[in-house]
This record gives sequence, structure tokens and C-alpha cells, in this order.
Amino acid sequence: MLLFPALLSLCLCGIVVAKFAGVDDASLDEELIAAPFPPPTQPTPHSPSPALNTPEGTAATAPTRTVRVRPGDNLSLVFRRHGLSQKDLHKLVNTEPLGHRLTKILPGHELGFLIGNGNDLLSLTYSSGPLEELRFTRSGEGFKGEEVVTEPNIVQSYKHGVIDHSLFVAGQRAGFTDAITMKLAEIFQWDVDFVLDIRAGDAFHVLFEEKYLDDKFIGFGRILAAEFVNQGRSHHAVLYADPNGTTSYFDPHGNSMHKQFLRTPLKFTRISSNFNLRRKHPMWKREMAHKGIDYAAPRGTPVLASGEGVVTKAGRTAPNGNFVIIRHGSNITTKYLHLSKFAPGIRANAKVAQGQVIGYVGTTGYATGPHLHYEFLVNGAHRNPRTVSLPDAAPIAEAERRAFDAYAAPLLASLAHHTQQPELAVGR
Ligand SMILES: [Zn+2]
Repeated sequence: MLLFPALLSLCLCGIVVAKFAGVDDASLDEELIAAPFPPPTQPTPHSPSPALNTPEGTAATAPTRTVRVRPGDNLSLVFRRHGLSQKDLHKLVNTEPLGHRLTKILPGHELGFLIGNGNDLLSLTYSSGPLEELRFTRSGEGFKGEEVVTEPNIVQSYKHGVIDHSLFVAGQRAGFTDAITMKLAEIFQWDVDFVLDIRAGDAFHVLFEEKYLDDKFIGFGRILAAEFVNQGRSHHAVLYADPNGTTSYFDPHGNSMHKQFLRTPLKFTRISSNFNLRRKHPMWKREMAHKGIDYAAPRGTPVLASGEGVVTKAGRTAPNGNFVIIRHGSNITTKYLHLSKFAPGIRANAKVAQGQVIGYVGTTGYATGPHLHYEFLVNGAHRNPRTVSLPDAAPIAEAERRAFDAYAAPLLASLAHHTQQPELAVGR
């Protein structure tokens, strides 16, 4: 979302960096953070004010006051705390087209106030992170706003991890945030059942982007290529942007990682800690009669439509409890049993998208504990949802094949190079 050309970003980079360099860890809990500008020197008649933002014709001002938004804050509270005019506040939030974003400040965001004589607000800056800043400068009766987007330096990096009992713990050990681990799982979610199929010894290798601002790490970017080894079986994925700018993950042969069905019809973020808490449901013992998979999961875990389709039934029977049946095209049907409740709008003839929440895990019907019973039928015959081969989404277009190969080959080679030399990957 770069609204400004890189050149402008570069020019402003120094200012933004200086601002954030003034924040040290010790002061994070303080509302007032070190002033980013040096205190004003004695002004002489011929030296301009050090505060560059001072509009023409105003007197010398105090340094910018930087404030970190506290939990429960809104802009009105902040203004009151600093004795600033509520009239100015009203003008600011009504400044088109950026002012309304000041109503969405969140704890941890930063506000910078440049205040003139008589506690007049001369300018306000608002940063929701190190890369984005809104600036409002007094202009006539009101304010004018501009958005400054700073472009970070992107560095390609590699990490790998081995799972002992939880993907998320392994991700944390490797230095990933849970959000990046989640992205990794999402890439492979069509091939790997992240609730039931994860085993000790499973491993991941990831080439990804890191964002730096003035040599300081500020966050993760995209996952460029990854390998996930599940029960000895290796899956590879490469991120590729087609000429229309649509990015998607493909395997090394150019097949889409997306399948027409999710392998796991549950939102596994909610059950991430349960990888090692898998238990055999008592009904599991009746294997001959059991025509689906039981996913033990906390009550209320969202249940997802595994593929696009039409609900043929959302009802309740004594053994099934609350259940949903979805028809996908002409020959595939999926069933979801024992739901605590249905998601809004889930009823016969409702259209559902892949990954749409259709209900929530419960214990309705013949169930001894909260779980989802999931069935996958092809031409009316039950198939094992964990092993049934799932139809692919569209592969790389033939016309794109050479460009894809040229792009993917070096990335996959780089990933393989790292994978084969894990000792080099320990330090970044
Ligand atoms: Zn079952």
C-alpha cells in the first residue's frame, strides 16, 4: 500500500527513523517518550526555528511532544490530558480524506504534537507503526493532512524448525511470530492435516522476507518459498506473481497449492495447542461403522466449509446432533456433525465459500466430548477425508510456464541449499 513514490519515502526516511530511534525500551510504559527533536536553542532574529514544521508567521514553539496511546484511550482523552483544544480535535478528525483515521488510534500507536504559544496545536503526527505516518499541519482555519509511507529494506532470510509436539512452539523456537507460523500452515493446509497429521520430527524450511528500517528489524514480510516435511513426506511451495499481479503459492511443477477442498475443516489456530492432545474418541473403536474422522477440539472452535458448495441440509437428529451437509458440484458431498450451533445464514440452499465458517464444535447428538465428525463422500461412497485425493485449483498457465520456472528454480535451489546445510542456518 505505497501511496507515495520511493523517492519521497527516502527523503522522509531520516525523519521517521530519528523519531523511532528516540524510543527506548525503558520508556515504553511511559506515556511521554523522549522528544525527537533537540530542545530549542536560544532563537536569534536571523536563525530559523529548529522546528521545521512551524508554519510561517508563528512564534517559536516547544519541541514536539510524543505520546504513546494507552489502553482505553481515544483522541479526545489524549487532547484533554494535554490541555489541547477540543475544537481543533473536531477539525482534525473532519480533515478530508485522512482525518477519520484518527478515530481509530490503538494502544501502542504514537502521536506527536507540535504546540505553539498559548497551547495552540500547530501540527499533529500519527504513526500506527514504523512505516506509516499521517501528518496534519495547521492551514488557514483548519488542517491539511498528508500520508507518509516509508519503504523498509527487504532482506531475504531462512529459518528452519523441527516439531516435537506443536508447530507453534517449533515456530517460536525458530524465531517466528505465531502470525508467520500461521501463514506457513496456511500455505500447506490443502495438503497437510494440521490437527491430526502433525508428528514429532516433522520439519519446516522457510525462505522469507525480513523488513529493516535503518538496520533495525521491524517485522516479517512474505514467505517466498517453503518446504514442509510431514511424516517423512516433503511438500514444497513457491510464491509466484502472475503478470496481473495476482500472487499465489505453487508447487515446483507449477501446480497450485490450493485445492478445491481444505484437508481440515476446522480453524486450527484455535486448537494449536492440541496437536499433542489428540485422543481417540470412544466411537473410534467401532472402526467398521465409523465413516468419518473425529476432530477433538474445544467447544466453539469454528467449523469451516471444506470447499465451495451449497448447503443441502442444516438440521438436527438424535444421533447426529446439529449437522450440516454440503454438496460440492455434482459428485462430492461433505458432512459436519455434533455442532454446538450453526453460523448465521447456514440453512438449506445457502451458498458457501471454501473456508467459510458454517458452525461451531459441540457435543450435540451421540458425542461424549466436544468434537467434529467429518465425512467426505464421492459419488455417494464414503472416502477417508485425510487421504482422499483432492482436485487441484488451476495450475500455472502454459504461457506463464517459462517465467514461472525461471523465477522458481533459483528460489527452490536456495531453499535446498539451506536445507542441506542446517548448521549454517543457525545464525542469521
Ligand atoms: Zn465420528
